[in-house]
Amino acid sequence: MTTPRVEIDLGKIQANARCLVRRLGARGLSVTGVTKAVCGHPDIARAMLDGGVVGLADARIANVVRMRIAGINCPISMIRAPLLSEMEDAIQHCDASYNTEMDTIRKLGAAAKKLGTSHDVILLAEMGDMREGILPENLNECAARVIATPGVALKGIAANFACMGNAAPTGGDMAMLSRLADQVEGACGPFVELVSGGGSANLPWALGEGSTGRVNNLRLGEAILLGTDPVTGHPIAGLHTDAFALFAEVIEARDKPSSIPPASIAPERGMLKLVRSDDLRARTVLAVGQQDTETSGLKFPSGIILIGATCDHTVVDTGKTAVPVGSEMKMGVNYSALMRAMSAPDVAKTVHGKQKVNGSFNDCETQHYLTLV
Ligand SMILES: *Cc1c(COP(=O)(O)O)cnc(C)c1O
Repeated sequence: MTTPRVEIDLGKIQANARCLVRRLGARGLSVTGVTKAVCGHPDIARAMLDGGVVGLADARIANVVRMRIAGINCPISMIRAPLLSEMEDAIQHCDASYNTEMDTIRKLGAAAKKLGTSHDVILLAEMGDMREGILPENLNECAARVIATPGVALKGIAANFACMGNAAPTGGDMAMLSRLADQVEGACGPFVELVSGGGSANLPWALGEGSTGRVNNLRLGEAILLGTDPVTGHPIAGLHTDAFALFAEVIEARDKPSSIPPASIAPERGMLKLVRSDDLRARTVLAVGQQDTETSGLKFPSGIILIGATCDHTVVDTGKTAVPVGSEMKMGVNYSALMRAMSAPDVAKTVHGKQKVNGSFNDCETQHYLTLV
């Protein structure tokens, strides 16, 4: 099979989504599946929907269009503010967008009116991540202006954590978001339907014991796809952490001294250096590099250590294990490695499990069931 390639287990993604939807549902929270790390891959989006997410969200309009073309017709929101050049696409393909700038919101409203429709706006509050966000003290005023803007409707408010910074939200942060929802209603009137607390970094809080208050939604990418907590990198209990694997081919396997060879130390002096014969290590070169993935985010089989990587090569120390040229190495991925691999044109994507075939769902793996009668 072609390499490098990402193999994707749709069943595990669906199971992760289902598990989170069930556990968060019991706490009064709905789940929006975030597809940006997989470039809106339609089969993965469907696996999330089959797992029960209420809708999808992506940061790029091109990914949303990819899902729409594949026939996905659930609610999709833009979690990055639409660009001026993509207002019409955002309105046509997305039900809602997360916004922080009145200028953008007014232009969205004007574009929606021109298209004879209305667009839902969710205001993103700045609560410490210091990426996009309206300062809490300005949220009421901004909400009032959205309500007064033709072509848009205020659907809700949201917070975001651990994207720029690495701090998970606290119960205090979430209580503040609830208070903001109450304040916006008190100041502006209409019911704030959606109160979206954040992403996978919120799970320790959301699955804890504390009150969820007005928070009624989370937008989850990493937890569904990789089963890990973005702040700690630790696996989340009950979730699959191996829905994705990256395969690369070995193009050189050779014992080399673990220290630098003499020629590169002082070639001008012709210095010789003795290399102990037991100092040789099996260095293996893989045909995958920084252009294909974030190599520092790869997880190698046990006993194999990353030495370094360049644009197109990754060098690993395989210790005593012989890895022949032409064989494939299977690696796990973290969120950055996944995101880079899924967006790299030279990395093939192979899906296993439930796929859409000719407009209907089929299980690719034929399973036979015995029925007890
Ligand atoms: C990426 C992103 C998410 C999802 O984050 P995960 O950590 O992958 O769950 C949610 N909201 C916004 C605004 C994002 O940019």
